[in-house]
Amino acid sequence: MYDSYKRHISYLRISVTDRCNLACRYCMPEQVKSASGGNQILDFEELAHIIRTLVPMGISKIRLTGGEPLVRKGLDEFVGMISGIEGIREITMTTNGLLLPGMAEKLASAGLDRVNISLDTLDPERYRELTRGGDIRRVKRGIDAAVKHGLNPVKINCVITPETTPAEITDLKEFCRSKDLGLRFIRQMNLGSGKFWKVEGGEGGHCLICNRIRLTSDGRFIPCLFSEKEFDIKDYGIKEAFSRAVQQKPEKGRVNSRNTFYGIGG
Ligand code: SAM
Ligand code: SF4
Repeated sequence: MYDSYKRHISYLRISVTDRCNLACRYCMPEQVKSASGGNQILDFEELAHIIRTLVPMGISKIRLTGGEPLVRKGLDEFVGMISGIEGIREITMTTNGLLLPGMAEKLASAGLDRVNISLDTLDPERYRELTRGGDIRRVKRGIDAAVKHGLNPVKINCVITPETTPAEITDLKEFCRSKDLGLRFIRQMNLGSGKFWKVEGGEGGHCLICNRIRLTSDGRFIPCLFSEKEFDIKDYGIKEAFSRAVQQKPEKGRVNSRNTFYGIGG
């Protein structure tokens, strides 16, 4: 489907859960209230049915995100369900990488094409502080597992916060160069105040070419990260909710004080 600015919408980002095994300071408040407000989350059968319904409407690329997608049990089986849907050309995932060591092989054989792994610093103490307790050694093992099992090109997502130093950026560049990983810099955004930036090295934030629609774990289509519009499948049904999201996708993002990064999936 084309939206009203002639953008061809082919990319669906699905937040499979709003739960996470980290609580990064720029993403999640310490005491998390569920983004779905206690709504029932969709099961994998329902999500697969939604994807099947959207393929004839133009969706061909799926990204799994969250929350942390890998905290949802059976995600590899869900990837297998998606890869069996005719018309889906690419399945990707954004993850913090902590659970990848035990999952990368299963995900790859189920049909996951590649991953983006979030890593904002190589300093173990800064990482622990920023993520409220994360162990950077697990992320590094996760990166190695992803590469080993062919989830390539593995790309690193680095959020630049006001505290990020030039030395940290240089170290990350060197790390990625030595391991042949992609690297994308994302300046810290704020949904509520409408502060957003283009992603350096990626397509996010480039409104002119934005081809994405987002789906929350409780079944709401969101046409733009920085828009408060949302269309609940419970209110409209799958096709109508999706059509409305496409037709009302704004030309550019503005603000979104209704939602959170961990609820929408970035
Ligand atoms: N848990 C997974 C992860 O961290 O990769 C997937 C979900 S996370 C919400 C998706 C992406 O959003 C991550 O790359 C994360 O760094 C980014 N993100 C979260 N909060 C952000 C913020 N305030 N500004 C910019 N990017 C943000
Ligand atoms: Fe969790 Fe990802 Fe948000 Fe960090 S950025 S709190 S890992 S959802």
